[in-house]
Amino acid sequence: MQLRTIKEIEITEKKVFIRCDFNVPQDEFGNITDDRRIRSALSTIRYCIDHDCAVILGSHSGRPKGSFDPKFTLEPVAKRLQTLLKREVALAGDVIGEDACSKAAALGRGEVLLLENLRFEPGETQNDESFAAKLAKMADVYINDAFGVSHRAHASVEAITRFFDDAHKAAGFLLSKEINFFHKVLQNPARPFVAVIGGSKVSGKLQALENLLPRVDKLIIGGGMAFTFLKALGEEVGSSLVENDLIEDARRVMEEAKRRGVKFYLPVDVVCAQAIEPNAVTIYATTKEIPQGWMGLDIGPATTRLFREALDGAQMILWNGPMGVFEVDKFAKGSIKISHRIAESHATKIVGGGDTADLVQRADDADEMSFISTGGGASLELLEGKTLPGVKALEIKGVV
Ligand code: AMP
Repeated sequence: MQLRTIKEIEITEKKVFIRCDFNVPQDEFGNITDDRRIRSALSTIRYCIDHDCAVILGSHSGRPKGSFDPKFTLEPVAKRLQTLLKREVALAGDVIGEDACSKAAALGRGEVLLLENLRFEPGETQNDESFAAKLAKMADVYINDAFGVSHRAHASVEAITRFFDDAHKAAGFLLSKEINFFHKVLQNPARPFVAVIGGSKVSGKLQALENLLPRVDKLIIGGGMAFTFLKALGEEVGSSLVENDLIEDARRVMEEAKRRGVKFYLPVDVVCAQAIEPNAVTIYATTKEIPQGWMGLDIGPATTRLFREALDGAQMILWNGPMGVFEVDKFAKGSIKISHRIAESHATKIVGGGDTADLVQRADDADEMSFISTGGGASLELLEGKTLPGVKALEIKGVV
């Protein structure tokens, strides 16, 4: 699979619509608390400006109900973009209304226009073709640089691609970087290839585990999902998070790992508490003896050591999902230590998932990672082996 990238199509002096993912966290005063997603889109935007394009940007933010809602305006995004680009960014008062259409029509070379939140239009999440047609009409070229929403068949991601032929649509730099990294991980990993999978539930990651099994040399499981596997092995997991209806699946995954010669690692000890609270009393327990009424909420010191050793010599590491309830300091230690270990490894290190990306940031390890994916849901779907609807239309046909 190969994506057609922005560099492969002619964009000079054209009017370009770039679908971005500016869905950034904001505090109660509307201040942007983390602008990584905006900064990640800058290379594509600057490339277009340098090619004398008129640049129309579209993004969603939050989950408004299909009509204008001041709580979800992109005004703060426009301001931050203006600061980062060091040039004026006009904000349209609507998405495909009179204001947006007239501003888009009058937009000159090198100028930048941001449309209002795409989800102010109900057609966006419905993948509505007539809404997509109106968006498409504003521009000569369509660029998708919104990896974080490329797993959604939404109008500005999927339906819109039907209005541009192959010479007029492509992936931006961010989208192609994301897709290429995951493609390499899944199709041509450096070996030994170790996947570290954590997070809350097996149900959310079962398909990804199944798709990874034929590709990895080692699979390390942490977080809440480990307890379903431990219970399948007959261990005493106390009141830890267990999905009883998935015990059979967990057993099947472990048998498949054994059949394929994949080394399968589970925690051997955990930090336990009776409640997920900052001041909760904690104890260490081995995963064979978690007392009734106690929950495993982080990996313990013996597990940290075991996992560290299992990571030795890895040439490629994929990490998705925290090792514990890292949002509470008391249960963050295991995840942070694993983050440091992965960061210091010489392997190619790929981090996916919103929580894991935050964690790596908190552990101050972000600069040491080879690649941190900006999209949680989209990266998980790639690990599950799915083709993302927003990406399919940008593939170069016939190239594997
Ligand atoms: P996910 O969205 O599936 O990647 O899961 C991330 C969430 O898993 C985080 O919010 C963690 O607090 C939670 N988590 C990690 N370990 C545990 C655990 N042992 N018990 C309960 N929740 C956990």
